[in-house]
Amino acid sequence: MAHDPVQWVYEQKCRKAVESLRKNGFEAVYCENRQEAYDYVIRAANDANTIGFGGSATIDTLQLRPELREMDKVLLQHNAPGLSADEKLIIRRRELTCDLFLTSSNAVTVGGQLVNIDGTGNRVGAMSFGPQKVIVVAGRNKITDNIEAALQRIKEYAAPANARRLNKKTPCAVTGFCSDCDSPESICRIKVILERKPSLSDITVLIVNEDMGY
Ligand code: SF4
Repeated sequence: MAHDPVQWVYEQKCRKAVESLRKNGFEAVYCENRQEAYDYVIRAANDANTIGFGGSATIDTLQLRPELREMDKVLLQHNAPGLSADEKLIIRRRELTCDLFLTSSNAVTVGGQLVNIDGTGNRVGAMSFGPQKVIVVAGRNKITDNIEAALQRIKEYAAPANARRLNKKTPCAVTGFCSDCDSPESICRIKVILERKPSLSDITVLIVNEDMGY
């Protein structure tokens, strides 16, 4: 139980999201901090050979790769430096059928929905169907009151920040504001809301009571 009042308020939101996610068919776990999320993912990775990364800043903050490499896991990372476009595409396809897929969600509602906007679709595709198991890690900063607020959060914060991180030639990567562009490099082409766990998927959502990613 958190003693700091702000931490406590966030804990209630996190726990409510966990409860709602469970009602919607997902496995969901409350994590007090990122170390608990790290430990959960490492335990789950024991059963996996191939591990796919969805390209998430949240997952990057966990710094899982060194331990996963020590465990002799095959890491599938389409964003690894030095890859050609063809090599990235091949890895993206392999990520769709990996043993364990690691990603975040752009937003999670207190009603237990996962809300995402994607440019290529490999991330939301793998979240919906394909990998043996999916773990979604989301910090408390991604919890919103409803789907409308989730979509607003994505356009106001997540998408411009991701466009900037990925060096996309989009207006938001320059101004920090979404201008609803039709840029060839737009990362806003696909809107996917997982309202309930997709029927043939195995998804665990870790809700962490820390700010993580964006
Ligand atoms: S400017 Fe374009 S890429 Fe950036 S958030 Fe808006 S629609 Fe997405």
